[in-house]
Amino acid sequence: MKVVALANQKGGVGKTTTTINLGAYLANEGQRVLIIDIDPQGNAGSGLGLNIAEAKNTIYHWLIGTDDTSPAQPTNQPNLKIIPANIDLSGFEIDVRDNANRDFVLKDRLKTLANDFDFVLIDCPPSLGILTINALTAANSVLIPLQCEYFALEGLTQLLRIINLVRTKLNTALEIEGVLLTMFDARTRLASQVVQDVREHFKKQVYDVIIPRNVKLSEAPSFGQPISVYDPQSTGAIAYKTLAKDLLSRQKVAV
Ligand code: ADP
Ligand code: MG
Repeated sequence: MKVVALANQKGGVGKTTTTINLGAYLANEGQRVLIIDIDPQGNAGSGLGLNIAEAKNTIYHWLIGTDDTSPAQPTNQPNLKIIPANIDLSGFEIDVRDNANRDFVLKDRLKTLANDFDFVLIDCPPSLGILTINALTAANSVLIPLQCEYFALEGLTQLLRIINLVRTKLNTALEIEGVLLTMFDARTRLASQVVQDVREHFKKQVYDVIIPRNVKLSEAPSFGQPISVYDPQSTGAIAYKTLAKDLLSRQKVAV
């Protein structure tokens, strides 16, 4: 089971969109995929058509509970399950404050699912707090979505510092899965400049595929569908499908 955290403490950079659509295409490729939402906003669940508002079988209940029954819920996609979040999760930080193992709660819980999935994608909240630390501690690798905007690289030093801190103290094996450029608008020179800067900075760690700005990607969640269902011919769909294949082929090389 490979665990990938999708992290960037900036909001609105495409973490959730990437989690849902990468997850859907990995599932289409026959991988058994679990999406774990650890953002109290709960967008991954609602984007896949779940009604999360009153749910009592969320990530929060699993993390703080002791019941070992799998909390993974089916979605409308074969091979794709999810542990959704909702606002209840915002209590987690306070609940575990005095717990010496507070950084390992998710990692310990995930052990019970080790035989059930090939990929776990963790959709992180827009912060570097205890939830993101739990994700980075539980993960084999971190995928960093970067929006092709002027401030793309801002805050990245902080994220990389946290990743290094987790590596030294909590999870020595944590790798960078890749840096993904998102919301690329080919009409602006700025976006192309950002792509160039990010490639210069991160070299081979940047995926060749760039996710274009595509309105279909922003519409799909309101229909509770991944882009592979909502509009498989769209530019956004083709890009996420390419990303899934790229990610899979890199695993084969690594094995
Ligand atoms: P995050 O999870 O990092 O906060 P989201 O994935 O929720 O970011 O994306 C923020 C907003 O931008 C959402 O409304 C989403 O639908 C939209 N969006 C994400 N990626 C794209 C894209 N490539 N093209 C157009 N809209 C996008
Ligand atoms: Mg999100």
